[in-house]
Amino acid sequence: MAKPIVAVVGRPNVGKSTFFNKICKRRIAIVENTPGVTRDRIFQDTEWAGHYFTLVDTGGIDPDSQDAILSQMREQANLAIAAADLILFFVDAKDGLVSADYEVADMLRRTKKPVITVVNKVDSKSDESVMYDFYSLGLGAVFPVSAEQGLGLGDLLDEVIANIDKAEEDENKDAIKVAIVGKPNVGKSSLVNKILGENRTMVSDIPGTTRDAIDTFFARGNKKYIITDTAGIRKKGRIEDYSIERYSVVRALGAIRRADVVIVLISATEGITEQDVKIAGYVDSEGKPAIIAVNKWDLVEKDTNTIQKYNNEISTALAFMEYALRIYISAKTGQRVDKLFELIDTVLENANRRIATGLLNDCIREAITAVEPPVARGSRLRVYYATQVAAAPPAFLLFVNDPSLMQRSYKGYLENYIRKTFDFSGTPVRLLLRERGKEA
Ligand code: GDP
Ligand code: GDP
Repeated sequence: MAKPIVAVVGRPNVGKSTFFNKICKRRIAIVENTPGVTRDRIFQDTEWAGHYFTLVDTGGIDPDSQDAILSQMREQANLAIAAADLILFFVDAKDGLVSADYEVADMLRRTKKPVITVVNKVDSKSDESVMYDFYSLGLGAVFPVSAEQGLGLGDLLDEVIANIDKAEEDENKDAIKVAIVGKPNVGKSSLVNKILGENRTMVSDIPGTTRDAIDTFFARGNKKYIITDTAGIRKKGRIEDYSIERYSVVRALGAIRRADVVIVLISATEGITEQDVKIAGYVDSEGKPAIIAVNKWDLVEKDTNTIQKYNNEISTALAFMEYALRIYISAKTGQRVDKLFELIDTVLENANRRIATGLLNDCIREAITAVEPPVARGSRLRVYYATQVAAAPPAFLLFVNDPSLMQRSYKGYLENYIRKTFDFSGTPVRLLLRERGKEA
């Protein structure tokens, strides 16, 4: 995985493992007290405020083999440096600046990789004055923290993110952005958790930080995804029901805008409510490719007509997005979650489809021959020429004699004809009209 790599480098006992464990929540970097036991470099995927990076603990120095410390440290640091996009250079406020710090700083400076100097064990104000000494290492920004007490970690992580932001942007450029929207309790979080399985890592228990991360990056097969879960919001605290609902809709809107594909989650046990319709309406008006996923399918008692019944209900309540693909899933059991990813791929492919102008005009001519365009005020709508002007969502520009002659029903007919000819399932399609003189 090409997530940005953040390496934690420093002398033994400066608190690297303590920091690592704090950040990674679980105690993964086991502090090994047996002399001669070398700890491996340990990798941990980490997330902060929706940004993803891999933290590397470069522990692995045996504190008991005195003479080898410096060379081992160098080796560790070199490994980390080679792999890292950003280096956290840990120093110890209790020890103050020592000569070994200068040696490591020299190495780090030569790499030209970004370095943040982290002065650890600043447990209280009285420890702060020493941190200014570390500016003499000549490595730029110096951050005081107390790994043990969790002080200053939020500021440090903000700085980390600021440094790796660019790398992350490049990394995420080709990731597919999937938003999961739906009213509270339809199973958004459950679905995200099912999809992510054990891979989810989060930093949630660092004091003094508000975590509002909604984007999760993950890979599946050879594809990269960023999944946005709009669920977290109502867990924020006590707000009136009404504002919870409003807020969740507003939140969903932001996620929808950023998404390549939207999964509209509906609860099989509740049926389609007004709020479902409202959220689906946003998806449609934003022109996003959509999948309607009916969740909690495990709770439904089924007979041969069950699917048909649900399909009819969707077609009626969400008639405006008949193009959306449908799937019946269980976030709990994982039923058809794999299939959901196949749909995501299909929908994306369709949304990005570009139709050659010749083929498009053949299709429009055929449609017009089969059903004549409407007549109003004594003149008939004429369509001279069509061309696809955009993808995702696909938009077609029709040059006509008089746009006001177009009727809704005929526009719908043309759209359906285009859909019958080319596969645009799952994506909205736009038909735009422009007037053009007969002579042209
Ligand atoms: P590493 O060898 O760099 O991984 O260091 P460790 O994480 O094993 O920590 C070495 C020692 O420093 C342990 O006894 C920790 O409890 C202690 N320590 C770590 N962080 C802090 C801190 O912020 N304040 C204080 N006072 N002690 C710390
Ligand atoms: P969110 O508010 O949309 O994020 O919904 P949650 O994921 O928190 O789920 C709400 C409740 O529905 C929880 O009690 C889940 O355990 C339950 N739930 C979610 N998905 C399913 C499912 O597919 N089947 C069943 N039986 N329960 C589910």
